[in-house]
Amino acid sequence: MDPIILATLLVALIVAAISLIFYFQSQGYVASVAYSIFVFTAAMWGFGVSLFLWTSSPMLSDLSARFLYLAGGFTAPAFYFFVETFISDSKLPRIKTFAIFVTSFILFILYFFSDFIIGGYFVTDTGIKGFLYGPGRLLFDIQLWVFMGLALLKLIKTRIKLKDENLKTQILYITLGTYIVLSIAAITNVFAPLLNIFQYIWIGPVSTIVWVILITYAITMHRLLNARLIATEIFVAIILIIFFIETSLSRTTDELIRKVILLIGGGIFSYLLIRGTVREAEQREKLEVLTHDLEIANEELKKLDQAKSEFLSIASHQLRSPLTAIKGYASMLLEGGFGKLSVKALEVITKMAISTENLIRLISDLLNLSRIESGKIQYEMVKNNVVKILDDAVDGLKIKAEKLELNLQFENRAGTELWAICDKDKIREVFINLVDNAVKYTKRNGKVLVSINRMRDQIRISVKDDGIGISPENIHKLFVKFARVEDAARVDPNGLGLGLYFAKKVVEDHGGKIWAESGGSGKGSTFFVELPFNKESQNL
Ligand code: ADP
Repeated sequence: MDPIILATLLVALIVAAISLIFYFQSQGYVASVAYSIFVFTAAMWGFGVSLFLWTSSPMLSDLSARFLYLAGGFTAPAFYFFVETFISDSKLPRIKTFAIFVTSFILFILYFFSDFIIGGYFVTDTGIKGFLYGPGRLLFDIQLWVFMGLALLKLIKTRIKLKDENLKTQILYITLGTYIVLSIAAITNVFAPLLNIFQYIWIGPVSTIVWVILITYAITMHRLLNARLIATEIFVAIILIIFFIETSLSRTTDELIRKVILLIGGGIFSYLLIRGTVREAEQREKLEVLTHDLEIANEELKKLDQAKSEFLSIASHQLRSPLTAIKGYASMLLEGGFGKLSVKALEVITKMAISTENLIRLISDLLNLSRIESGKIQYEMVKNNVVKILDDAVDGLKIKAEKLELNLQFENRAGTELWAICDKDKIREVFINLVDNAVKYTKRNGKVLVSINRMRDQIRISVKDDGIGISPENIHKLFVKFARVEDAARVDPNGLGLGLYFAKKVVEDHGGKIWAESGGSGKGSTFFVELPFNKESQNL
């Protein structure tokens, strides 16, 4: 067979295979179907041309000439149809589809049952076959240019408006592919025949391969999930087609048998390859759906968590202000700011002050929790005298300790001020938590000793009590959220188990350490905090 005819046929076969692949892979995606229709018309054009060039039968030549013009005539509206559906990602309006079908039908009649556009063929003096045109030939060209022009306009207009870079590249590929082929075909298949040059009519259909490759690439980019599958199928189809043509061109029976066996082997291999890729694509698709669902669920959870933190934060703020006012008035009453009180009244107000203090601590624990969880905990890191902070914290708990008849003592073993870069309020809160725990978890008449010292480049604070103690299995569990030990729950049922969690976070954010030691249940405990000592501030 003539290599030109073979090439035309090969391209037509490949293009037809791509059309089929897109049709079966469309999965309800209208643009895929539209694309497969358009590619199909290009394939038919190629078949028509190869048949026209190959046959020597007058009847077949006449029919193939009409057929190739009909198919070629359809490519432009089919392309327009594809561009519309690709861009809008939806079905074409009914009216447009209807108009396209009516036009197609009229064209069909015009091509096959009249000589209005094409009137058959003739053979030139040099033996080359050419087309005989009818009076309506111009109509063919007009519809071609109109549809191609409309499609181009649509592509350009959409590309300008689009923001999605991915889609922009796709449209660029489609436009580029189309108009490369259109320019080639305009010369070899439209203008040349007008000048009675017919030997290049095969170039148009062969160049459709460029078109189809570029657009196929663009579309598969659009639907990433099936891209691998489509690429594999196209690859396999091309190989099988070449194999098939090779086989049909065998010269001896021996060669034919060998090639048929090879072809069958190739077929089986291709089937297995595609099946594997299909499975993989399906799995990926499932995974994609699951991941998507998970992402949504995760988003929901995040929103809920944020709502919870916000609620906690607002509620805590609202609760704290009135409580601070009550605490203020209670201590004014205790200090005799409103006159001398009876012993009974003093006792009641002391209880009130302590309860209010507990409530305030509870609320600030909640507030701290929501701050930690929302990542909104902020520090004002400046140089501070840690001795003073600790002294203040201990002072604030004196009333409570006295009430419980506890011996609460503060000892500065360093004998000087000790400076650190820290957030004063947060560190004070940590100290209050530790001393408050020691007071809370120590029996009446017990002893709490708070001390501070310098250990080389660290400031060490210890809070030692002779209270309920902590068993060895529990000692490492204290610093997590909502950690509560049974013994402690008995002593103070109102605790939340948040104080040490907050303390650990704050101390570690300061580059320090916090830990607890205890001889065991009932043997008292000591809590330690170490904060980096700031030499520069100390020397000032
Ligand atoms: P809360 O005191 O509100 O329960 P914390 O986070 O301050 O929360 O303490 C967590 C747990 O650590 C307490 O419930 C208690 O079991 C234990 N704990 C803390 N301090 C002491 C202490 N001084 N003696 C014994 N156990 C303690």
